[in-house]
Amino acid sequence: MADIFGLSLPELQDVLEPFQVPKYRARQVAEWLYQRGAQSFGEMTNLPKTLRVRLNEELSIGRPSAAGRLDSVDGRTTKLLLEFKDGTAVETVLMRQPYGNSICVSTQAGCNMGCAFCASALHGMTRNLTRNEILAQAVVINDMLREENGGKVDTVVIMGSGEPLMNYDNVLGFIRLLHEDYVLGLGYRNFTLSTSGIVPKMYDLAEAGVPISLSVSLHAPNNELRNRIMPINRKFPLEDVVAAARHYAELTKRRVTYEYILIDGLNDGEPQAKELVKLLHGQLASVNLIPINPVRERNLLRPSRVRIESFEHYLAAHKVVVTVRREMGADIQAACGQLRNRHLEQEMQK
Ligand code: SF4
Repeated sequence: MADIFGLSLPELQDVLEPFQVPKYRARQVAEWLYQRGAQSFGEMTNLPKTLRVRLNEELSIGRPSAAGRLDSVDGRTTKLLLEFKDGTAVETVLMRQPYGNSICVSTQAGCNMGCAFCASALHGMTRNLTRNEILAQAVVINDMLREENGGKVDTVVIMGSGEPLMNYDNVLGFIRLLHEDYVLGLGYRNFTLSTSGIVPKMYDLAEAGVPISLSVSLHAPNNELRNRIMPINRKFPLEDVVAAARHYAELTKRRVTYEYILIDGLNDGEPQAKELVKLLHGQLASVNLIPINPVRERNLLRPSRVRIESFEHYLAAHKVVVTVRREMGADIQAACGQLRNRHLEQEMQK
């Protein structure tokens, strides 16, 4: 039975063609799927009853189910573990920020980039998510917010498990689809994609006509250190990543954000701050410092407040736009991939 959840309007029109219905029916179905939380065709009350019965017999609506949920003590962060038809599970995080509801979606089940600080890398990558599975994460959370208090998803960060640019076509398809008015109608400026620096795809994205914000995981100011923290640096070295980010900023006129995880005694000293200033000199860019959420499985520690502040002040004093990420949901294992890892560990113990 064909699953229609996640289809675009032209795709829905094709699927509905054998039912010989006017074209506007496809838009009605899309709105039920993406904006009104329909779980079944029976709920689509503006469709003729005979059509609902036929659709029910021949098509299905494959919404993912929530296999786990964690809420932070302050109630602002919710993490859902969503399970797809084949049993693959991924995490999606909702952060209720003062400026709106922000969600963080996953693009791969696990990740094989192997960043030293990241829990998603521990079990490697199972598979790429499809466009529809990435979309489902946003729609499920949007439904949840609507039911809670009439809220909606305001911004999307593509920063969950996985390297989005290694799943380029599905991720681009997701961005374009979520932007459509019959889905969530989200402006491109409300998307941020975070990459570990897949250089050729960064150039492709700059040309794709979707002016989203780009965030680049830098985490070290030289190749020697970055090789140790992010193995992908051996393939795409630092200077090529920075050149691709510079190109992206010039073409889209959008400021690029460099993510920099601060790890005690490794990349958080004044010599590294100095190198970072030199590397980013003259760029339309900002640096987001992220004191590491210690990963239980790895021995990586968080710097003291004094060290964090002196790194921040050094950058600011040298005219680098810098922020320190506010903490959300540390009590619910917010470091990327940790909920999924617990789930995998439990599954393996069964
Ligand atoms: S930080 Fe991102 S790219 Fe690196 S291993 Fe984790 S999920 Fe993959």
